[in-house]
Amino acid sequence: MLVVQCDFDDTVTVGNVSVAIREAFDLENWKEMEEEFVSGKYTVEESNIRQYAGLTVSRQEIEEFVKGDVVVRYAFDEFAAYCAGTGVHLAVVSSGLEFYVSATIGAMGMDGVEIHAGHAEFTPNGIRVSYENPAGAPITNAFKDSYVAHFKSQGNTVVFVGDGLSDLGPARLADHVIARDGLADDMERLGLPYSRFETFRDVGEHVERIRKNLEDNDSNR
Ligand SMILES: [Mg+2]
Repeated sequence: MLVVQCDFDDTVTVGNVSVAIREAFDLENWKEMEEEFVSGKYTVEESNIRQYAGLTVSRQEIEEFVKGDVVVRYAFDEFAAYCAGTGVHLAVVSSGLEFYVSATIGAMGMDGVEIHAGHAEFTPNGIRVSYENPAGAPITNAFKDSYVAHFKSQGNTVVFVGDGLSDLGPARLADHVIARDGLADDMERLGLPYSRFETFRDVGEHVERIRKNLEDNDSNR
C-alpha cells in the first residue's frame, strides 16, 4: 500500500499553529525554550512537554482560537479526497498536539483522516503533554520517525511530506520525500532526493506520479 505521512504545522497549515498558540496566550520564556530545541539540547517532544506545561488555558479557549485563526494550505481537502478515491492511505502525524490538529481538520468537515499527535491533558497548572509510539509505549523522541518505521514495517511504500527541523529524521526513513522550506533546504544540502511543494496541488501531482510508477512496476512483474 502507498502511505502518505504528512506533518501538520507549516505543512497542512500556512503558518505554525503551535507557535501561534504560544504567542496568543503569552506563554513566558517559550522563545528561549524553543531555542534550546533548535540548538539540539532538547528533542521536539521534550521541548513541547516543557513549553506547554506553562500554559494555563482551557481546551475550549485554544479550540476557539484555532477555529478562528488557522489557515489550511491550498487544496489539502482536494488532496485528502484524492487519497480516499485512489486507495492512498493518508496519515497526519504531528509532534504538536492532537486536539488542535483534530480541531483544524474537523473544522474542514474531514473526519476520516488518520491523525497521530501528542496527547494533551488540561490541568489547572498547565497542559500535560505526552507521546506514544505506534505500539503504545511512552516516548520523548522520534515520534514522527516511529510512525514512518511502523508503516514501513507493514510493507508499505511511505511518502513523507514535511517542512521543518523535526522532519529530517522521518524523511530519511521514508521512500519518497515531498518538502518545502527548511526540510527542502536540508535535503538539498545533504544531496538527498526530494520533490518540492508549496500547495497540496503540488503534493497531489508528486504522489500521483509515485502511485502510477508503483502500479506500472506491479503490472510488469
Ligand atoms: Mg512542520
